[in-house]
Amino acid sequence: MPKYIFITGGVVSSLGKGITCASMGALLESSGLKVNLMKFDPYINIDCGTMNPLQHGEVFVTEDGAEADLDLGHYERFVQIKMSKDNNFTTGCIYADVIKKERLGDYLGATAQVIPHITDEIQAKMKQQAEGFDVMLVEVGGTVGDIESLPFLEAIRQMRLVLGIKNTLFLHVTLIPYLKVTNEIKTKPTQHSVKELRSIGIQPDILMCRLQRPLSQVVRSKISLFTNVQQENIISLVDVACIYAIPELLHQQGVDALVCQHLSLNCHAPDLAAWKKVMRNQENPTEMVQIAMVGKYVDYVDCYKSLNEALLHAGIARSTRVVIDYICAEQLESEGIGRLKSAHGILVPGGFGERGMCGKLMAITYAREQNVPFFGICLGMQLAVIEFARHVAGMPEANSTEFNQDTACPIIALVSEWQTQYGKLERRQQGDPLGGSMRLGAQACHITPDTKFMKIYNKKTIFERHRHRYEVNKALMPALESLGLRVVGSSTDGSLIEAIEMVKHPWFIGCQFHPEFTSTPRHAHPLFKSYIQATEHYKREHS
Ligand code: GLN
Repeated sequence: MPKYIFITGGVVSSLGKGITCASMGALLESSGLKVNLMKFDPYINIDCGTMNPLQHGEVFVTEDGAEADLDLGHYERFVQIKMSKDNNFTTGCIYADVIKKERLGDYLGATAQVIPHITDEIQAKMKQQAEGFDVMLVEVGGTVGDIESLPFLEAIRQMRLVLGIKNTLFLHVTLIPYLKVTNEIKTKPTQHSVKELRSIGIQPDILMCRLQRPLSQVVRSKISLFTNVQQENIISLVDVACIYAIPELLHQQGVDALVCQHLSLNCHAPDLAAWKKVMRNQENPTEMVQIAMVGKYVDYVDCYKSLNEALLHAGIARSTRVVIDYICAEQLESEGIGRLKSAHGILVPGGFGERGMCGKLMAITYAREQNVPFFGICLGMQLAVIEFARHVAGMPEANSTEFNQDTACPIIALVSEWQTQYGKLERRQQGDPLGGSMRLGAQACHITPDTKFMKIYNKKTIFERHRHRYEVNKALMPALESLGLRVVGSSTDGSLIEAIEMVKHPWFIGCQFHPEFTSTPRHAHPLFKSYIQATEHYKREHS
């Protein structure tokens, strides 16, 4: 029978609950256990596809095309299994499913209520995901005390009641703030957060305290007394320079032993060799490169979470420290390209909307003309095609119909119909609702032989994840190809362009998909590795 670990958060949001959850997963997985992770989000949106990244951070895309919370990205980077649409549920999804059942008459005349119908639905989702695994880690989004998360907390309380203490573990992540003025740390917010949890019937078994310095014995015993948590079950989660150190940090404090004892899990001591190697490389770089990332959401770097991590992973694989200079595309428009001159590589990430387009195009022109390694991802690739069409192929009006529906030269446009690798016909048109109407999830791409792209992947067919509406207009590409912007990847039916590279450039690649979603610290993505290698080369040549 699967065992459950429920992870809640207290005091403030953004405590790194997701990373704690993912690190616990990594630790237990390295002990030989089969683990799965899932997250419940208390908001009403069905998924985060339509949410502003400035509010919620990046939208992570799963292999099966879910537009999920960014914590699922952490999960995939820490554990071996892939997440799916069933690893992330929102209040909106749960209610939608309950209402559907009510309409079908499944509740046989009963009054549909939060308890038991909503809480039963939540439990059913957990049980379904736990099947076949030794341990199911369930993260409850939000902060204890919020009205929105109550049904989820009630559901996990019921799980303890039904499955018993030996099969369930409550782990509460909390904050111990430090007051500089009085030079003391404060335990009161944690006491109150646990009090709140206990008032709804949940006594945490383990407390993970986020703080700046490890807990002293005195503070630990005080927290224990007020929260009713055993002293040895109170863990210090100090700030770390790199999140990939956390599995080891948890192990050093005996968290795996605590969990295994509580849940009577049969496993070996964790083998953290691969994580130690990641940390060794991360801490001892032999080279340093600077990447200029020209985007729209540069003030809130969580918007590019997977991308930041993928660059870091490539750096780890190559023992190179990657420094990212986030440049606001609009600022570049007004201030000029001066800041790009210190970069060893330029990257234009994915995005939506026209804002900052000119700045991004300026950066692309500079990369193309000055032979600076350039990586364009999704919108970044679309803009690279527009830039080339306008400035090299003599198509000054080249544009995307996303920015100008009536452009005379729609080099990027909506493709209304295409066949997927499974033989399914997909359709899309202007005016479709925004939620879930994009080309989403992993799709097959055939690589053109004798290309840099083929050398990088060393494969004929790849599967990469998508999240976009618009495509490169195939009809207009031959003119660009004849001038050296080559199509190097296409969908299986040949109708959609997946990747381009510039023939006469040391490293200028654009891809319509998002390779950052599948990069992990232990297995850096080949495209990012090759890109970082090219930036190292550029640095050597230009210093
Ligand atoms: N806005 C573009 C599109 O919808 C690119 C999307 C993206 O970069 N993820 O096609």
